[in-house]
Amino acid sequence: MAQSPSSSHPVTLLCLKGDGIGPEITAATQSVLNVVDSLYGLGLRFETHDVGFVSLEKSGSTFPQSVLDAAKKADGIVIGPVSTNDYPPAVQGGVNPSAALRKNLDLYANIRPAKSYPGLPPRVGDSIDLVIARENTEGFYADRSMFEGSGEFMPTEDLAVAVRKITRKASERIARTAFALARQRRNKITVVHKANVFRLSDGLFLEAVRDVRQEFPDTEYEEQIVDAMAALLIRAPEAYDVIVTTNMYGDILSDEASEIAGSLGLAASLNAGDQYAMAQAQHGSAPDIAGQDKANPASLIGSAAMLLRWLGERRGDARFVSAGDAIDVAITKMVSSPETRTVDLGGTIGTKAFTEGLIANLS
Ligand code: NAD
Repeated sequence: MAQSPSSSHPVTLLCLKGDGIGPEITAATQSVLNVVDSLYGLGLRFETHDVGFVSLEKSGSTFPQSVLDAAKKADGIVIGPVSTNDYPPAVQGGVNPSAALRKNLDLYANIRPAKSYPGLPPRVGDSIDLVIARENTEGFYADRSMFEGSGEFMPTEDLAVAVRKITRKASERIARTAFALARQRRNKITVVHKANVFRLSDGLFLEAVRDVRQEFPDTEYEEQIVDAMAALLIRAPEAYDVIVTTNMYGDILSDEASEIAGSLGLAASLNAGDQYAMAQAQHGSAPDIAGQDKANPASLIGSAAMLLRWLGERRGDARFVSAGDAIDVAITKMVSSPETRTVDLGGTIGTKAFTEGLIANLS
């Protein structure tokens, strides 16, 4: 957002539908946002652009420059999942819109909650209520680790190399985000790494988190190696509060954590930086259920609630925080009752019926 926040101008949300189930769950999210807009007088204005295969067809790129330009002018972004695995190479227009926005808008913190719902038993163990603070701008992601060119290359036809970038700056800022978040919760941090093998790169990450720890002496602190963490999440998910980790470990562990809570279909997330924020479900485009009214839209609707709270805190406007909280209450009501659960949660209702029920709860 170029201007400083104020409560008088309309709040522009850029909506990007994406691929697979993206159009279904973004439509659901937008209808929920419309309702809280009128209930809370938020002054939302929606601007919709194409990304993904629709955009490739129209403009030759899955992520045209015009979308980045619009994102830079918007107050917030809502993006549906994208089918990146099926995209053509970059020279043929296949650009990952999600990665491009995270990198270009410096959305360094990917905040991924996993929470049990009343009446919905977790898939394993006792209830879970944790947040993963995942570094979002570097790590083992080929499209994020180089200034120019790709972090993945083949010097010969039988040799493929991937470069992983870890910096002190990015590690410190995600650590600070995580500690600040922990203070608002149960004040416990678990830092997840693989410094026993990646002594230099994960070693640098760990060192940066330990340094930041000095600023938060009252926070309970522990370190776990990532493979053990994957097991411990199954064994005792209730033991964790805020987990801070590098990009790829966070990506994998957050899918595990949200599935423990019930389903990837509940997995909300916010990509946030100092200036911009983007609501985005944790999961992918689920091509296996696309276009069948089977997707659980709670993931993206919950992500939009996170975006509204981010906007509310940034603008000093309690209406946005209340609207975000009201959406979460309405999701909880829907998920807590077996009759109003989607198929991924063992229920029978579809995307549209879930959205209508949620809106009825809001109103
Ligand atoms: P996926 O997350 O799309 O699906 C995994 C499983 O979870 C599938 O069984 C799917 O049906 C189910 N699922 C996911 N979201 C659901 C929802 N809201 N409701 C009910 N069930 C849901 O993972 P995948 O199949 O490995 O990836 C599909 C595509 O998504 C690939 O092209 C991949 O590159 C891409 N992807 C995109 C993002 C993103 O846009 N942020 C993230 C991950 C993967």
